[in-house]
Amino acid sequence: MNKRVCDIKVSGIRRFHNKVKEVEGAISLTLGQPDFNVPECVSEGMKKAIDEGKTSYTSNEGIPELRNEISKYLNKLGVNFDGDEMCITVGGSQGLFAVFMALVNEEDKVLIPDPGYPAYKAIVEMIGGCAIEYKLNDDFSLNFDEMEKYLRAGDVKAVVLSYPCNPTGAVLSREDRDKLAGLLRKYDVKIVTDEMYAALCYEDEYYSVAQYDDLKKNLIYVSGFSKMFSMTGLRIGYVCAEKEILKQIIKVQQYNVSCAASISQYGAVAGLKYGYNDVEYMRSEFKKRRDFVYSELKDMGLDVNLPKGAFYIFPSIKSTGMTSEEFCERLLNEKKVACVPGNAFGKCGEGYIRISYSYSIEELKKALALIREFIEENR
Ligand code: PLP
Repeated sequence: MNKRVCDIKVSGIRRFHNKVKEVEGAISLTLGQPDFNVPECVSEGMKKAIDEGKTSYTSNEGIPELRNEISKYLNKLGVNFDGDEMCITVGGSQGLFAVFMALVNEEDKVLIPDPGYPAYKAIVEMIGGCAIEYKLNDDFSLNFDEMEKYLRAGDVKAVVLSYPCNPTGAVLSREDRDKLAGLLRKYDVKIVTDEMYAALCYEDEYYSVAQYDDLKKNLIYVSGFSKMFSMTGLRIGYVCAEKEILKQIIKVQQYNVSCAASISQYGAVAGLKYGYNDVEYMRSEFKKRRDFVYSELKDMGLDVNLPKGAFYIFPSIKSTGMTSEEFCERLLNEKKVACVPGNAFGKCGEGYIRISYSYSIEELKKALALIREFIEENR
């Protein structure tokens, strides 16, 4: 078997989620799976596509209707990519895979955030690249000194940015976006910006380095509809980049999957045309849940940052004296509540747990009451 693949650990998120199945009656707050049904317009769009027999291969880069709708949508976020500067992928996951495959040579250094979404490190290492974790500040904002320390060495191929962030819920502030853009202009590196949760931002304004057209020659934008339209199983993501970069990504796409599922692509078109009210509804519900979970955790005396995007919260459990694994194992066995140990997201995640608040408010209320009991018993 391939040694690099054998060396990759199974994702800590899945590992913990699987443990939950062994504990009868446990409440799981482990997955990033919204509890809302897919918007009706998305289902209708897919039914119509089936009835019309739109079941054949699409082009590798996806149907033009979807790429053009994405272009219009991104435009509203201040991000300018034309329909022919993107490729529709099988969820954000396969988008990330195609990007790193096209970009990374053996031993190439890729900076990834720590804590961060585990796929970055796994994919880069599977491909033979070298993932270098950059630490974040205590509030999970970018630590520019840390980032520049690596960039100054001059041998970094790419920087991965991940805002709104899984697992911390942090977003990029306006000041940090501008400072970051300055840094990225100074060093000639590729930028992979994963903005999977851009539609789930609780601030009025959205900031991304992709909003600077002059950075586009080096920038690859990854996103998708799994979270935005609560369609995780329908597997539609997308990657945007200038044509020269995209050409290589599309080669990977061709030999990897040919294309994303045609019916799901039509569902996403309908979502973009008619589903903004559904997205707004989900976003406002997530915001209520975020406020509830945050105030409960604060009230328990835990050190926690208010998440400004996505649907995760990342409290510190250092005050309990337990490791992340120990805390989560005991919480599951003693109180039947499952959260993900922070170390599943990198070394800097040690001492934290990730709670996904994409679950119903009833479940969150029950789970938080049990977490409170657990904290009080172990203070
Ligand atoms: N990027 C981030 C930050 C994520 O959290 C996820 C999924 O949780 C993905 C990418 C992958 O998305 P998808 O489910 O569309 O493959």
